[in-house]
Amino acid sequence: MKALLALPLILLFPEVSPRAPVGPDGEAAALLEKAEGRASAGKYREAQRLYRKLAEDFSGTPEGRIGERRARPSAFLGAADIVRHGDSSNRVDVVLMGEGYQLKEMKAFAKLADDLPDYFRRNRTLGEYFSYFNFIRADLVSADNGVDGFGREYDTALGGHILGTYAGHVSVNGGEVRKMLDELPAHDGQAIVFAKLGVLGSGGGGIATIGGRNMKTTLHEFGHSFGRLSDEYSSETHKRGATKANVNVTDSPDPDLAPWKHFIDAKVPGVDMYQGADGRARGAWRPTANGCIMGAGEFYCPVCREQLVKLIYSMVDPIDRAHPAPHRSRSRDEHVVEGKELVLEVTAMQPASHTLQVEWWVFPEADAPGSLVSDGPHAARAKGGRRSTRNPVELAPIDAKPAQKSKGKRDGEHDFRFKRSAFPPGRYRVICRVTDPTKLRGDRHPWVLKDDRGLLQSEVGWWVRVPAE
Ligand SMILES: [Zn+2]
Repeated sequence: MKALLALPLILLFPEVSPRAPVGPDGEAAALLEKAEGRASAGKYREAQRLYRKLAEDFSGTPEGRIGERRARPSAFLGAADIVRHGDSSNRVDVVLMGEGYQLKEMKAFAKLADDLPDYFRRNRTLGEYFSYFNFIRADLVSADNGVDGFGREYDTALGGHILGTYAGHVSVNGGEVRKMLDELPAHDGQAIVFAKLGVLGSGGGGIATIGGRNMKTTLHEFGHSFGRLSDEYSSETHKRGATKANVNVTDSPDPDLAPWKHFIDAKVPGVDMYQGADGRARGAWRPTANGCIMGAGEFYCPVCREQLVKLIYSMVDPIDRAHPAPHRSRSRDEHVVEGKELVLEVTAMQPASHTLQVEWWVFPEADAPGSLVSDGPHAARAKGGRRSTRNPVELAPIDAKPAQKSKGKRDGEHDFRFKRSAFPPGRYRVICRVTDPTKLRGDRHPWVLKDDRGLLQSEVGWWVRVPAE
């Protein structure tokens, strides 16, 4: 069982191997580490010099190839954590990149990147789940600082260019962004790119691009890139073809067909059918009058908010840590109650203003419910992939009353004391379920009304042996 749990670690970080020491003394690896250290400390010129040396002295080795790549005029130089709330395996890693920042301007980008997390924190939706995110700065140098368009080409890190919209929205080359993401030891395919020159923004497929540094634009584009949300404004920015129905936009005025029908049925204030969305005045409907940042508003509307929370939970397990190691339902492994009690611990994720519900059950082996998901936190989640790819299912209901129920613990630490004196000798299944009720103080409705895939809950289980006296 231990070997099985350890297996994902091997699969998770295949990119470690090219960095393993190749020389007899691991000199190349040491030089690479030094160069990366200089970059993360803001010593970009020095980092460039070390990458050039790496390329020259170790040409033909994996490190030498990294050096060659990073010594180019437009290149990835390194990365640094801006805000780290936890291990990347159970957080949404948002990588901030600068496009069109020349060497001497990179300090200014670092400052911009430092300021960004606070805008997430102050947004009601993203702020509630702020601790579910990490913010990482990728240091990209560009030889030029222009944006391609009108017949001019510049040498920049991400191929920034002007889109064919009326206002000339800025965008970048997605393939180049992904190459830069792949320079990091781990990522979730999520990048926010600030193009130094260029206007407005664009977003999709995990990449938000912002011309300049407008933070409202940043949150709007993040709604596209991370939230896969559509525009809720009605002004035409470019020709779009037929209306594409999505979570927050529909091509029919019929509320019964609306993707947000469950909000209308629940009578969530302000949510209804409003014509004008997806960059057109007619033939597209949005959920709120003017209340969404995907349109003209300041905040994510309830419909967009539900989507964002579910997507966060498609990448972050509500159970951040379980100790000792949990067992699958079919495992023959077990923990033995040695002294008076065995303490089982779970750390739940911690939203800003509400807490997750934690429930515990104990079943004698003969009555233990089977389970599809008792594999321990993240056992099925490979980095780079997403938790949603394992297709979480709604947990089977357990009829029995929980042996213990806890809520409201600010630090997220929960434990269950399995008392030897309370159980006759035998084998027992202890199950812990953690659920985000998404119900905030003062709100009449939960933020997530429909969770078909069971994203907001997670379960771990242990086999526990009470030895004969
Ligand atoms: Zn919305």
